[in-house]
Amino acid sequence: MAVFKPSRRDILKLSAAAPALALGTPSLAAISAPSNGQSNGHFKFKIGAANLTVVSDGHFTTLARNIGINADESDVADFMTAHFLDASAHYEHTNHVVIELGNSKVLVDVGSGYRAAATAGRMRDNLAAAGISESEITHVALTHAHPDHIWGIRDDFDEAIFPNAEYVIGGAEFDWWMTDDRVHMVEETAQSVVIGAVNSLTAALPQMTMAMDGHQIAPGITLIASPGHTFGHMSLIVESEGDSILITGDAIRDPYVSLERPDWFSKVDLLPEQTVATRRRLLDMVAADRMAILSYHFPFPGVGHVVADGDAYRFIPALWQWN
Ligand SMILES: [Zn+2]
Repeated sequence: MAVFKPSRRDILKLSAAAPALALGTPSLAAISAPSNGQSNGHFKFKIGAANLTVVSDGHFTTLARNIGINADESDVADFMTAHFLDASAHYEHTNHVVIELGNSKVLVDVGSGYRAAATAGRMRDNLAAAGISESEITHVALTHAHPDHIWGIRDDFDEAIFPNAEYVIGGAEFDWWMTDDRVHMVEETAQSVVIGAVNSLTAALPQMTMAMDGHQIAPGITLIASPGHTFGHMSLIVESEGDSILITGDAIRDPYVSLERPDWFSKVDLLPEQTVATRRRLLDMVAADRMAILSYHFPFPGVGHVVADGDAYRFIPALWQWN
């Protein structure tokens, strides 16, 4: 059988015929990397003696313009294009994490389930693929009650899906969503978000603990108040053997926008000024203390460091290592 050995000229001819390789339009140089068949949607690493597993819930897209509603629309579009990001649809990853430290296995947020976005809701499958069983989870820390973080909390029988877990949420966050008639205090387009939060929080109520700033979930795992994105948003700090990591939730949302334009706020940031102040406080802390960070919507697995850069910041992703 003759073996086809392409010459350089053949390859150039093939390239010219293949639209994906053709130049011309100012493209995003799209490097498409579908996770199907490529990864199990989880990523394991250590902080001191703590074993952390990032577990993806999938992804969804939001309107890119909404990421900086206090900026000119053209400035937001230019920023996205300069960072090889889509100027119209913003691609959001969803990085849950399981923290194993001492006798505790703490999961952060429960994802969309099948209720919020068709492209999300994969956390339970990815948890199983990572070898973590749902009955082992001792605590579920809820950063806030937005759909992509909490709508996956209940099964078809309206029961919380982690049977042995204590659910921990900021008391201020719980109270804000559960305020009588909250549904009529928000814009009509946000009413389904309130109803979903109330149904989700109600399902886990028998297992729920309301936390204040500084609440220790387990030794070495602490909640810190990071309000702004929502009224009672919480982030977590994990400390072990001198190492530490900040798990931001949505207090820091995008590795480029939130860091390089920390003063921009988005349409879904409930308290804009407080969102910006909290973000700067957290970024200053992790940059000064050289803490690692893990952010929910950063590109998977969302782990890295932050350095100060003048009045802004830069994200240094953690490098993949095989050992
Ligand atoms: Zn979110």
